[in-house]
Amino acid sequence: MKLPVDQLIRPDILAMKAYPVAAAEGFIKLDAMENPWRLSQDLLVELGRQLAEAHINRYPDPSGGGLKEMLRVAAGIPGNADILLGNGSDEVITLITQALARPGATVMALEPSFVMYKLNAVFSRVNYVGVPLNHDFTLNLPVLLDAIAKNQPAVLFLAYPNNPTGNRYSRDDVLAVIEASPGLVVIDEAYGPFSDDSLMDLAGSVDNLIVMRTLSKVGLAGIRLGYAAGQPKWIAELDKVRPPYNINVLTQITARFALTHSGVFEEQAAALRRERSHLAEALAAYPGVRVYPSEANFLTIRLPEADLLYAWLKSRRILIKNLGGMHPMLENCLRFTVGSPDENRAVIAALDEYFR
Ligand code: PMP
Repeated sequence: MKLPVDQLIRPDILAMKAYPVAAAEGFIKLDAMENPWRLSQDLLVELGRQLAEAHINRYPDPSGGGLKEMLRVAAGIPGNADILLGNGSDEVITLITQALARPGATVMALEPSFVMYKLNAVFSRVNYVGVPLNHDFTLNLPVLLDAIAKNQPAVLFLAYPNNPTGNRYSRDDVLAVIEASPGLVVIDEAYGPFSDDSLMDLAGSVDNLIVMRTLSKVGLAGIRLGYAAGQPKWIAELDKVRPPYNINVLTQITARFALTHSGVFEEQAAALRRERSHLAEALAAYPGVRVYPSEANFLTIRLPEADLLYAWLKSRRILIKNLGGMHPMLENCLRFTVGSPDENRAVIAALDEYFR
């Protein structure tokens, strides 16, 4: 007699839903903070040539094949920090949580924020404490400091800028949080390329700090490469949890290729920042729409009957993210990834029609 699935799978997993990814075929896809541009034809041909030389019969170089050195230069990672590579920063979050998951340990994050912090705490069976932001999504420093003092988190994840709200907290507040934390603080800079500040300069010199980044938002979401920088004593422990071949051969080649052409991606990030201002201005002009300040490649808005606008855009083949239902503070909130100028024009045209 075989035991049924629901007697073998953990009850907390049975009760969960899989991470939702909306079907996007035929849509203007503005739901996942991807970069709208593919590589130019010339670069694609050159990349194809390099990929054709890949030894896909062999396991990848477990140390990343020179990628860490290139990332150090590209991202300004200080010399006294070591680097951990992940299959997306999603995997880095998993590795950190697994390594710190002593019985009774607490993972802390702000809310609303990136859902994987909490999910990983559930997967690793540790306590999770979500500390609410203010209603305008700014950081409530006294509340957070109290929660840290009370719960003594083993790790605090803080997205800088935050997803899904787009704002960046003040650097001084974040430094106070790191100072007050007994455990590790992970500053998640997934949206760093679109932001006015970074704590990467402190990685390696601040004892309990890890700064995490990803290539996903700058144009390489498909290759899955994230990384973390921190003191060698932390990175050495995290590296024990990492599957040895987590960065595949094709990703290593593509990332090295991209980093030798980093100017292309920097120009695109600059263009997206300009597009973000235009789109923010356009959105704010519609009646009842509140646009939250963003230092990321997306804009979050709140408006009455957001579900109706979401459905309208969908009927116009534009896919954004409906944040309603994800967290009580996100009722009537929608998130627009900043797209190419053409895509953003299409969004504004559809909004003009909706609000007419
Ligand atoms: N951190 C934040 C704040 C994010 O928003 C995301 C993706 N939405 C990630 C990490 C994960 O990114 P990736 O795994 O693609 O590196």
